[in-house]
Amino acid sequence: MTTDLYIHESDQVYDAIVVGSGITGGWAAKEFCERGMQTLMIERGRVVEHRKDYVTEGKGPWEFENRTKVDNLLTEEKYTVQKKCYAFSDMTKQFFGNDKDLPYSTEQGTGFDWIRANQLGGKSLIWHRQSYRLSDYDFAANKEDGHGNDWPIRYKDLESWYSHVEKFAGISGSSENLEQLPDSEFLPAFEMTAPELHVKQKIEQQYPDRHLIMGRTAHLTQPTQLHLEQGRVTCQTRNECQKGCSFGAYFSTQSSTLPAAAKTGNLSIAPNSVVHSLIYDEKTQRVKGVRVVDNDDLSTREYFAKVVFLCASTLGSAQIMLNTKTKSFPNGIANSSGVLGHYLMDHNYNAGATGTVEGFEDEYYSGRRPSGILVPNFQYKPSLYKQTYVRGYGLSGGSHRENWQSNANQQGIGANFKDKLSKPGRWRMGLHAQGEMLPRFDNYMALHPTKTDKWGIPLIHIDCTWSENEKLMMADAEQTAAEMLTKAGLTEIDSYNSIETSNPGLAIHEVGTARMGKDPKESVLNSFNQCHDVTNLFVTDGASFCSSAVQNPSLTFMALTVRAVDYCVNEMKAMRI
Ligand SMILES: Cc1cc2nc3c(=O)[nH]c(=O)nc-3n(C[C@H](O)[C@H](O)[C@H](O)COP(=O)(O)OP(=O)(O)OC[C@H]3O[C@@H](n4cnc5c(N)ncnc54)[C@H](O)[C@@H]3O)c2cc1C
Ligand code: SF4
Repeated sequence: MTTDLYIHESDQVYDAIVVGSGITGGWAAKEFCERGMQTLMIERGRVVEHRKDYVTEGKGPWEFENRTKVDNLLTEEKYTVQKKCYAFSDMTKQFFGNDKDLPYSTEQGTGFDWIRANQLGGKSLIWHRQSYRLSDYDFAANKEDGHGNDWPIRYKDLESWYSHVEKFAGISGSSENLEQLPDSEFLPAFEMTAPELHVKQKIEQQYPDRHLIMGRTAHLTQPTQLHLEQGRVTCQTRNECQKGCSFGAYFSTQSSTLPAAAKTGNLSIAPNSVVHSLIYDEKTQRVKGVRVVDNDDLSTREYFAKVVFLCASTLGSAQIMLNTKTKSFPNGIANSSGVLGHYLMDHNYNAGATGTVEGFEDEYYSGRRPSGILVPNFQYKPSLYKQTYVRGYGLSGGSHRENWQSNANQQGIGANFKDKLSKPGRWRMGLHAQGEMLPRFDNYMALHPTKTDKWGIPLIHIDCTWSENEKLMMADAEQTAAEMLTKAGLTEIDSYNSIETSNPGLAIHEVGTARMGKDPKESVLNSFNQCHDVTNLFVTDGASFCSSAVQNPSLTFMALTVRAVDYCVNEMKAMRI
């Protein structure tokens, strides 16, 4: 990437400003640029260059002072929340937010674990890449059972946009023809292990309504010309992804959308630019641009554009909107409905079970597959709901063969002991629930009334808790996962349910806060992610979701974003925006 991409001061009126450079912002920028629009991407964090800035790539655990564990003092100083993320380690910490500089507060007696990545590329560098379409059942769920507002779109509205992003990003998976989980445009799926194939057969025999499929993931198992042109090549199955991948074999802003946007010559990037608020013109009732505070020296500047796309993440975009108080919008821009900040959701992944698959002693695997298996949601419509709660969950997991580490804590000495350490151990396999969280007005983020961060922006204050529905769902998921493994013939079953001790947020699938809807009185955005109240302001990240569904959400952020850009550019050309 060339340095003239990056700007600091500018009085140019761009066609579009895109705030944020994660999965959502990357797609918005690419699509605007490819439609000939002069586009400014604004990112609060530092520049991370593809390849050059993957500073831990290729290093083995033994090359880190504490064998990948982050120094305790550093963790307590800077990463008190981020340390809870399973992907946080000495190898990846450079891509995680700094909790000391980026504080937020939670209502007394509640907690929310907000995992962040504040640099060019956002969380696209560290995501786990599981990619699933929502189905018509998901878009209809709120209407069907009365929780939340009706999504203003259905599957057919997004179908071709899913295809568009999948072909470009590269999604590996298998076609299954399931009504609750539409197939994508697939590259070949990763392979299941022999025990997984065995358990699949047993579960599908025992439970005709359930399927065990290979996880769908944004990895190039067999790149097409479109991927090779992006400079990306085949995945080497190393599962080292969250350090950054010079092969560009998993989808990220850096590997995929940013080079495509830059290639057009229409992209500029303003890094280290913290958007404080939007500039609103009362006369025209449109936004004119953004106010920015410099990340480093705290100086202020402004950028201008004809349209603004907020892609700063579910909480980040709502923070900017709530902090834009005007005469017409004293409670935050485009908030005439009063729902801005509300209906915050995450996924509920607090229960599951693991067990031993007997046999298969002569089986092993080579490489480290960067994806697991999935049992798609089997309670995806009201007629399939359990009696005690509504909605459902998917079960993800996988098998692995225990190795010498399982004996690492055993005492021993001599040849026999060493011999035991060198032998592979049992095959273990797990199923872990990822459940839907209901949209509730009471789960919300607001701006703290008195506290501000170092850029002078009011802190986000979050009040978000699990409802009884989520608790009942996890109690059931624990039992069901254990029962399924038992019926599949596994032994030594361990099950767990940690919902009482875990906070929302840690699934890192936060959505809601500026929901879409048909009725401007109860929603912030229309069916094209455009603010009902301000026609040249769009929000296309997770903030726009009306329900969480059970699928990992980022593929849907991509599809919503490209659809919104297409609509916006057409509206601009027709002079309606
Ligand atoms: C470890 C991990 C595993 C995950 N696994 C999966 C998975 O398997 N599948 C899946 O679908 N999802 C997964 N996710 C979630 C996924 O990463 C997010 O849903 C997605 O990346 C969000 O994209 P985004 O662009 O909306 O937000 P982000 O990636 O958070 O990007 C927002 C960007 O906006 C910038 N920004 C914020 N505020 C401002 C401001 N005021 N001014 C300027 N810039 C600002 C931020 O610095 C950031 O770069 C995972 C996340 C993590 C951390
Ligand atoms: S597993 Fe694939 S995507 Fe991940 S680091 Fe290795 S080559 Fe890159």
